[in-house]
Amino acid sequence: MIIDVEKLPKEGRKISEDFEFLSVALIEESAVFLKPVHTELTMKKEGEEILIKGKIITCFSLICSRCLVPFESFVDSKFDLIYLPEELELIQDKLESDDINKLFYYNGKIDIEEVILEQLNLVFPAKPLCSDDCQGICPVCGKVIRDSECVCVTKNSALRLKKLKMFIKEKS
Ligand SMILES: [Zn+2]
Ligand SMILES: [Zn+2]
Repeated sequence: MIIDVEKLPKEGRKISEDFEFLSVALIEESAVFLKPVHTELTMKKEGEEILIKGKIITCFSLICSRCLVPFESFVDSKFDLIYLPEELELIQDKLESDDINKLFYYNGKIDIEEVILEQLNLVFPAKPLCSDDCQGICPVCGKVIRDSECVCVTKNSALRLKKLKMFIKEKS
């Protein structure tokens, strides 16, 4: 969806739509879209600036970086962006300091799908985790510890305790 900046109505434009993307467009390689991206946003022109305020809601499947089990990750994120025309990029270093984080649009157009994709790519954690206390995979048996498929930890500590008790007994 390409928006022609010149054609934006004075009162701004509201967009409420579901966008479908290919999962390969995401920077997180393990991410797979489970739903289209529901988008609500308003675009308004103020002088040279284009203000975009919006909200995206979707759901991904990600792979946990510790246990390697896929899990669902919900996105409900808001953003507030300011775009400037490309001419101003040339004098970027002369812009005021609070203008540094502003984005630029080219040829008088803004691609809404590109904006959304960029926002989505910002929400991914560097290391996705199925839960904060995910214990990952057991180095002994290679099974996922969370699923209690792995009994190594309990077996080992029970064994150690038994040995310790025997040791103490022998000493006394
Ligand atoms: Zn995990
Ligand atoms: Zn184990």
